Amino acid sequence: MNKTQQDYLEQEFGSRVTFRKTERKLYGHDIAAMPGIIKPFIGSMVPDAVVQPETEEELVELVRWAGKNNVPLTPRGKASSGYGGVLPVKNGVVVDFYRMKQVKHIDAEKLTATVQAGVVWERLERELKNKGLTLRLYPSSFPAATAGGWLAQGGAGIGSYEAGWFRDNVVSARVVLPDGETREFSGDELDVISDAEGITGLISEVTLRVQPLEELDVVAIGCPDAIDLQHMVQAMIDNKLPIWSLLFINPRMAELKNKAPLLEHLGHPVEERVLLPASYIVTLAFRKKDHDALMKALPGVMKPCQAELLSDRIAEHEWKNRFKIMIVKRLGPSLVPAEIVIPLSSLGKVMAEIEAKVAQPVVKEGVVVREGASGQPEVVILGFIPSDQRKFNYSFVFGLTLTIMNIAEKYGGRPYSTGLYFARMAGKVLGEDKAAKLKAFKKKVDPRNIFNPGKVIGGGVIGLMMIAVRAFEPFIRPLGNRVMTHLGERPSEPVRDIPADVAWYAYGCSQCGYCIDECDQFYGRGWESQSPRGKWYWLREYMEGREEWDQAMVDTILVCTTCEMCNIRCSASLPIEPSWMKLRGILIDDEKKMTIPPFEMMAASVRKEGDIWAAYRKDRDAWFPEELKEKHGPKNKAKIAYFAGCTASHVETDIAEATVRLLDAAGVDFIHLGKKDNCCGTPMLVCGKWDVFEEILRSNVQNMKDAGVDTVVTSCPACDMMWRQTYPVWAKKLGIDYDITAKHYSEVVTEKIKSGEFKFPEKVPDTTITLHDSCHIGRVSSVYDAPRDLIKAIPGVKLVEMEHNRENAHCCGSVLTLIKDPPVAADIGKSRMDEAVATGADKLLALCPCCQFQFRVTADKKKIPIETVDLARFSASALGYKFPDPNPEVQRQWAVFEAMIALMTPEGFAKLMGTMWPELVDAMPFGMGPMMRFMGKVPGALTLMKPMFPVLFPRLLPMMMPKVMPVMLQRVADSVPMPDYMLEQMPDLMPKVMENLMPHMIGDVVPLVTQPMIDYLRKGDSK
Ligand SMILES: Cc1cc2nc3c(=O)[nH]c(=O)nc-3n(C[C@H](O)[C@H](O)[C@H](O)COP(=O)(O)OP(=O)(O)OC[C@H]3O[C@@H](n4cnc5c(N)ncnc54)[C@H](O)[C@@H]3O)c2cc1C
Ligand code: SF4
Ligand code: SF4
Repeated sequence: MNKTQQDYLEQEFGSRVTFRKTERKLYGHDIAAMPGIIKPFIGSMVPDAVVQPETEEELVELVRWAGKNNVPLTPRGKASSGYGGVLPVKNGVVVDFYRMKQVKHIDAEKLTATVQAGVVWERLERELKNKGLTLRLYPSSFPAATAGGWLAQGGAGIGSYEAGWFRDNVVSARVVLPDGETREFSGDELDVISDAEGITGLISEVTLRVQPLEELDVVAIGCPDAIDLQHMVQAMIDNKLPIWSLLFINPRMAELKNKAPLLEHLGHPVEERVLLPASYIVTLAFRKKDHDALMKALPGVMKPCQAELLSDRIAEHEWKNRFKIMIVKRLGPSLVPAEIVIPLSSLGKVMAEIEAKVAQPVVKEGVVVREGASGQPEVVILGFIPSDQRKFNYSFVFGLTLTIMNIAEKYGGRPYSTGLYFARMAGKVLGEDKAAKLKAFKKKVDPRNIFNPGKVIGGGVIGLMMIAVRAFEPFIRPLGNRVMTHLGERPSEPVRDIPADVAWYAYGCSQCGYCIDECDQFYGRGWESQSPRGKWYWLREYMEGREEWDQAMVDTILVCTTCEMCNIRCSASLPIEPSWMKLRGILIDDEKKMTIPPFEMMAASVRKEGDIWAAYRKDRDAWFPEELKEKHGPKNKAKIAYFAGCTASHVETDIAEATVRLLDAAGVDFIHLGKKDNCCGTPMLVCGKWDVFEEILRSNVQNMKDAGVDTVVTSCPACDMMWRQTYPVWAKKLGIDYDITAKHYSEVVTEKIKSGEFKFPEKVPDTTITLHDSCHIGRVSSVYDAPRDLIKAIPGVKLVEMEHNRENAHCCGSVLTLIKDPPVAADIGKSRMDEAVATGADKLLALCPCCQFQFRVTADKKKIPIETVDLARFSASALGYKFPDPNPEVQRQWAVFEAMIALMTPEGFAKLMGTMWPELVDAMPFGMGPMMRFMGKVPGALTLMKPMFPVLFPRLLPMMMPKVMPVMLQRVADSVPMPDYMLEQMPDLMPKVMENLMPHMIGDVVPLVTQPMIDYLRKGDSK
């Protein structure tokens, strides 16, 4: 792509286009791991650019431009397909539909929904439910896949038993054709759009049929073999049993599911294992109102097939986990896919022949379509063979896919889809008529073949290869069958510097995309590199030597908010956030790469005064109510201590004060350690400065032990996370005795309320509030009820929930993101606060000082009309206490941080140096200062020296620093509006910060300062 073309895209799409190589790479693959043998025939699949249109008008503009410039366009929904349809084999531009995700209209009377193509099924279903409606069918990739993607790819899914293929549930689709015209397709016209994978046009909008929401019920049935299964399902159809969805798995799948890892939290399983019998397990979903009729009829169809009803527990487990088929990938760590459609009448024979011919364990999931394309029942079988893509023999196992395809065809079946790999078999896959229609339409509308070239009917080399290889299937099969398959997780050695378990997970990730839309780092920026899926893919590239760590990638790991949303979203139950945590330690603590710069200032401050705000330890407890000191001050003894943490002690002090008021009023016997209260260490842990974290942990635990405390009560979820979850693990690792329990004040106070020892005496004016669940006490410690119980105990208060609440609550976007990328943090914060505003609540209650800080900063930047109030403050106010408004202090502190953040960048440091050239030159060692000044006067001398600057500067700067420090401190003071106490401490803090940062940053600073320094030397000054 030439510069003019890039400029055009940049001008049209601004931050919604990327040319960054690392990013583009992440838009050049789908879920399938392509065998090494095929890759060279495809060549580079890295697009030249990725764009994210927001509207149909933008799509039209893009299409017209692409036509004029002959630039190939490859549409991409969530890339959850695996046939190569999204691969930009001719490079060009990937059109990512992520931002076209509006639900435009729901018609409850006509039972239709009109959506932009990029809407994800899960989101649409949520909106439908709010209107008493539901989807007629959806793919098992429901948490990730898009409406446009499914229409373009074609398919059946959950609900297809009753509703058929997706295309038959589409009323119409608006499509941008290759000449830029937009047309609406409906009825038979959809033949040239559905299953066409974008080769004929970009789908911008889909109108689909929906149905009234009715309560569902599920049962599970065990069936001994495939032929019995076939007969039983046929009998269900013949007897018109009122079933909505019929899914089944084969015994191998049941066996693997039994072996699959459970969802873990902090290294412990958080779900129970439900053992499945080694049989075909059918999961039926039906409307509750049909329960009696179905249950009455089932024995009649099951008995002749020796089938039996399985427990409710199994039924619920299978239904609950219906989107998590990829969990078995953890055992591979790769899966070779084989997806076929066969007539129900040949199910038994197909299964038997696969068993006979394929010696590898083939795990299968099936979807029954009661009335298939031919009017007869069909079965979609998604088969997987566990394998290891890192091994050469993976290609042979891949060959077995063709064996399965051949078997399907022998019995009247076909491959599920065309995509890239089966593009020469369109007639078989789509039916000869439809394929012919599609070819003719493609020829007419896109004669230059710029819309998703090489796919569906493309005549590319891959399709040819597949046909050729199929001819050799009988010879390849024995090779594939002979490969030894090991099942189970077996991480062995670290790969490069990636720990063995994390390396395994990287390959275990199915690339399904479930984690993407709900990751705040993704929706804050909109690019895959920030999502867990993108990071896993990058790690694979890194481990295979095609990528290297740079600061941008280190930051990508560091900046993750640790919200833990991805852990519960992951279809493979991967411990994602803990893996990033491990990498933080490796990158920063072990390898001494640069952390997010302002954390160096926090580290220096923590080491000196025990807090991250560069405040004095002597002021740590200035907020503590004088009259409570005698009862709860550090001179007392109690088993419970309130640990306030840094932000509540120094910035939002209303939180700390309100908490002790509340605890006191509730009759809790507690102490506060006074000036010994300390930073909990979370900032040091997450920024990778684990040496500082360890120091903090040791001193905190010792302080509590010395005070005879066994329970630490917190008001900050990050502190709570340390005392409750992190310290115990680290203490064990460090050989420290740890016998401390942690509780949030909301838990302690609600205990008192429940036991009848405390109640709120006064009625506050009627208030409607909404509650933000902090990630660090919600998903990390599952404390959801206590804050709600506390709120409910206050008379006159009504709690309304936000769209995402409890374990699904979205993150506020704080700390790491706020410090690294304030504008992104504001976008994330806004998306959360918008949800709060949408509830109509008067106030947004938060129970975390850091979330509140972020909300206050966000509200100020984005002008969001809802007041943020701390839960403790709100509750203690109901007791009649008054507290100072924390907002002015928050804004003051944020101004300091914002200026520090800007300063601690290469540009910031370059600017700072630009204010002190005379001092810098004077500070040069070995008499170089006068020499440089002299060179400035000799024409051309500095130009000659210029190439040496990148070598000289890093060596000289450490020697110059002590000399220029006083003036540097002065200049920093000029640009950062620091409070006096911070200013006073700068001479102690700054040298340490510079010592740690400069070695990393100097390489980026030198190019920025070289010319300004030369200019200064040429111009000279009074010296
Ligand atoms: C765990 C899992 C379960 C799955 N279950 C099912 C299932 O039950 N049934 C099923 O059919 N499939 C299933 N799939 C496959 C896949 O999820 C579906 O095909 C899905 O519909 C693809 O949607 P997508 O948004 O990811 O599209 P993508 O994969 O991004 O795209 C699919 C094709 O459509 C094209 N395309 C995308 N958007 C547009 C557009 N707006 N205009 C024109 N062309 C476009 C792409 O170029 C590509 O060729 C599953 C996949 C996974 C990982
Ligand atoms: S922990 Fe949160 S921010 Fe980090 S990767 Fe997971 S979902 Fe994204
Ligand atoms: S991390 Fe999990 S949810 Fe995300 S793409 Fe990988 S397997 Fe899917």
